[in-house]
Amino acid sequence: MTRRATLSTIALGIACSPILCCWITFASCCCPRRLRSHGGSEDKRRFEKRQAMAPRPLPVRPPERAVTIRNRSENDASELESKELRGMVLDQSASKLMQLPLELRQLIYRAAIGDSVMHMVLKKHKLGYIRCKDPTATDCSLEYSRCFSRNTWSAFAEIPDEPPPTDGDVLPLLLTCRQIYSEAVDFVYSTNTFAFADLDCLRYFSSTILPHRWSLVQKLDIEWCVSWPIYDSLAQTVLISRPALYPPHDEATWEGTWRIISEMKNLRSLRVTLMYFDVFRDSSCEERLLAPLRQVTLPNKFDVHLRWPGKEITDGPFRAFRPATREADNSSEEWV
Ligand SMILES: [Zn+2]
Repeated sequence: MTRRATLSTIALGIACSPILCCWITFASCCCPRRLRSHGGSEDKRRFEKRQAMAPRPLPVRPPERAVTIRNRSENDASELESKELRGMVLDQSASKLMQLPLELRQLIYRAAIGDSVMHMVLKKHKLGYIRCKDPTATDCSLEYSRCFSRNTWSAFAEIPDEPPPTDGDVLPLLLTCRQIYSEAVDFVYSTNTFAFADLDCLRYFSSTILPHRWSLVQKLDIEWCVSWPIYDSLAQTVLISRPALYPPHDEATWEGTWRIISEMKNLRSLRVTLMYFDVFRDSSCEERLLAPLRQVTLPNKFDVHLRWPGKEITDGPFRAFRPATREADNSSEEWV
């Protein structure tokens, strides 16, 4: 770079610095509260409370469970009282449901507890779910507002000590008997769309169910409010508080979440909606934000809706959608 070019760059930086300062002031003071996360004591307190109320992950080697049934021989009846046979089922042949062929029972199970959208929510030491009122997550967009209370269930809200009831009508059928549980439980994971508005919730879901159940999940829907100033190292340097972002709004949680998703063996459909309070100050920040999504190559359908204007993206494993606004024409401009 010539001396003249260097001087020009320095001059441009000096000229633009007031704009950057104004922009940072606006971002930290004027944007909506739910999009503002810049490492204040409030963010730290919320993070520590979420940590204290987090669901416990499964042990690395989960104990043998007696919920699903094992195969048994005809001569096992006399041994039913034996401790060895805990987990066996009693004869259900008198049940009208059990008299149906397995294929018909499976259709009934799927109609009862599958093929829905389940909004997953974080509760005290556990997860809950809200069955969507709409047939698809796309219908429920934006921000799941038809069935979802942001003030209660978003990653910017407190985990309520006494949350409103969320568990609907999946568990009662599964808890009817072990045979029904064994025959039906896979449909919960393989046919429902799991919708998340909280990255912590997705991470806990993957670690609090059995790995083979998690691997059955085929459809995910994620709506996430990206927190400023993620991947913006310059803005983070200017901020006084350290760190600038607490989990789950930080870069490590973002990348860890996408690592989990990229390892899902049966993921077929993935829709992601990302919100931000403004355009990215520097297009490289957006590129770093989207880089982890490029690890996900398995889904047949992978749509990413970016709720801010910018350059067209055509080289990813996903289809990117941008708002068709007049501002998009100026989106390629960098601020510094
Ligand atoms: Zn919904």
